[in-house]
Amino acid sequence: RSLPIDEEAENYTRQVPGACFSRVTPTPVENPKLVVFSKSALELLNVAEEEANTDKAAEYLSGNKLLPGSETAAHCYCGHQFGAFSGQLGDGCALYLGEVLNAAGERWEVQLKGAGMTPYSRQADGRKVLRSSVREFLCSEAMYHLGIPTTRAGTCITSDTAVMRDIFYNGNTIWEKATVILRIAPTFLRFGSFEIFKPTDEFTGRKGPSVGRNDILVKMLDYVIETFFPEIHKKQKGSQEDKYFQFFRDVVLLTARLVAQWQCVGFCHGVLNTDNMSIVGLTIDYGPFGFMDSYNPAHICNSSDEGGRYAFDKQPEICKWNLEKLAEAIQAALPLSKSNRLLPLFDFEFQQCYHAQMKKKFGLCKELPEDKALFQAFLDNMEATGADFTNSFRALSLLRLPGCAGYDQSKRDLMTQLLSQCLTLEELKKQYAPQMDPRQFAIFQSLLQSNPAMVEMLGVRRGLGTIEREMERMLKRRELEKMSNAEKSASDREVWFGWVLKYAARLEKEVADTAQVEALNDQRVALMNGANPRFVLRNYMAQNAIDAAEDGDFSEVQRVLRLLEKPFSSSSSSSGDDDVEEACVLARPNSA
Ligand code: AMP
Ligand code: MG
Ligand code: MG
Repeated sequence: RSLPIDEEAENYTRQVPGACFSRVTPTPVENPKLVVFSKSALELLNVAEEEANTDKAAEYLSGNKLLPGSETAAHCYCGHQFGAFSGQLGDGCALYLGEVLNAAGERWEVQLKGAGMTPYSRQADGRKVLRSSVREFLCSEAMYHLGIPTTRAGTCITSDTAVMRDIFYNGNTIWEKATVILRIAPTFLRFGSFEIFKPTDEFTGRKGPSVGRNDILVKMLDYVIETFFPEIHKKQKGSQEDKYFQFFRDVVLLTARLVAQWQCVGFCHGVLNTDNMSIVGLTIDYGPFGFMDSYNPAHICNSSDEGGRYAFDKQPEICKWNLEKLAEAIQAALPLSKSNRLLPLFDFEFQQCYHAQMKKKFGLCKELPEDKALFQAFLDNMEATGADFTNSFRALSLLRLPGCAGYDQSKRDLMTQLLSQCLTLEELKKQYAPQMDPRQFAIFQSLLQSNPAMVEMLGVRRGLGTIEREMERMLKRRELEKMSNAEKSASDREVWFGWVLKYAARLEKEVADTAQVEALNDQRVALMNGANPRFVLRNYMAQNAIDAAEDGDFSEVQRVLRLLEKPFSSSSSSSGDDDVEEACVLARPNSA
């Protein structure tokens, strides 16, 4: 890549204008040890498992040694964090190792995450610890096997290098083990990569370090289009601007499809800043992410997200907002008047993909006008009863098509399953506990009244919807306070019974030919069980694996990986890990 680079190959922290990357080398760790590897991810690089599982490999995969031909670098990018432009961020702890052209002719970019300081490390140390690395490793692979576009994780290597981490709630200094993961993706370029060209931000007064460098902008756009959007590159009939128009349209579509998939598995990203938005529509940067257990559309999985900006149900609108920021960053190549015309496509594509996927989850093939309401009622019921998102969806295939043998029993089975997924009254009250810090809540509330412009400037505009929601939740909690356990159970039963009847009535309309009903039902179950995972990476699963790994036992991480590699499987025969499998379909660790 003939892009301008820094002359000095030094890792000290600085602003890096006029460049997309800096040459940096990894900082070695002591005694690197393999925690886990992903066979299928390493295959992308033509690395066999026997090769990965050696001490020598740990040296290379930790960054202690460099493979021949590897030219390491850290990428310079900017970003809007929680709605406000932050200026330069960059790869503060990630390092580009190079690209691998595999036997299949695919080109994969390889990165180390946690390999030490770079010019972009700012106040931090460029390291990652075992717990965050295990979480990122497992979730990357889980997403891949769920069929959701993502960066991959090849290996996770821990070490005896101690890094200092503060755990907020006790104030004590905690020492943890520096851990490095090998990340693999077609590219790690993100929306923020283009924000180095951002003109002065009207609120923060900051600008991108490479603003005005349209030469670099065009090179970067052309590189991305040629490499990752070859169809657009090949067409090239129209003007340059036309090419960027097609490109932006594709990014809008890919992003809409990605977030639709997240919503369908209950995945909450947690930090949807523009620097965590892949330019090729991958899930990127697994930090405080979470798969929802009990369904709560207002779920916030990032404890520093006081405004609830990145709450589960806000993900689509936030992704669209991020696309607006991308449009602003590339406006020197594609005028805003043009890119703005493409933004409405986002809503259309999102709705389309979300609805199509939901139809699979409910096992419906016909398109009927009442379906949206049926889906929404299911979500509303899960919210009201506190039912587990993953398991409730998975249970739906229990209901057989009307006319099948055992149909009446299947209705009762579905009811039993759905009811078993509901929270107890006590748990549901907890779910409705305040999500916002009460002081933040008060500050936002008074800010909203006194100075809405300031609120906008602070970038908490979308957080404000959460204030209203928080109030609704307070009311809901008060209602729950008045309820008894028996009333909760009776209400759960009523709510779900009504819905199951509607669902059954809807299924009747799926059956055109009653002679075929058994075969039709088999097809339907296969469709549903391929869309409703049995296993997702629940927080407690990750935590168990991390606790064992902290004690030097990596087998639990490896076992969880094996489960997540077949998230849709219903038979436990292939793995030999029956107990683990059974434990992992539980919504909660202690309900065993
Ligand atoms: P994130 O919120 O994870 O997207 O990170 C935001 C910025 O902080 C990015 O520029 C990261 O590279 C940087 N960063 C995160 N963790 C570290 C770390 N341990 N050391 C240096 N920089 C970091
Ligand atoms: Mg990031
Ligand atoms: Mg991160």
